[in-house]
Amino acid sequence: MRIEVNWDRCAGNGLCEFETDKYFEVQDNGTLDVLQWEVDGDDEQNVHRAVAACPTEALSITE
Ligand code: SF4
Repeated sequence: MRIEVNWDRCAGNGLCEFETDKYFEVQDNGTLDVLQWEVDGDDEQNVHRAVAACPTEALSITE
């Protein structure tokens, strides 16, 4: 499983980081950093929650 970001849609509000800060970190300037693109098996549920939490639908997952 791999994280995909539509950068045009990301508003930098950090809701994904709230769900899992292992994968997402918003910088002070509002830029999102993806800390790890490939999702570890144990983390799939957390990353799905982060995708669902994004209000602008900027996140998606590919298998
Ligand atoms: S929740 Fe969505 S809009 Fe907010 S920082 Fe994460 S990817 Fe960007």
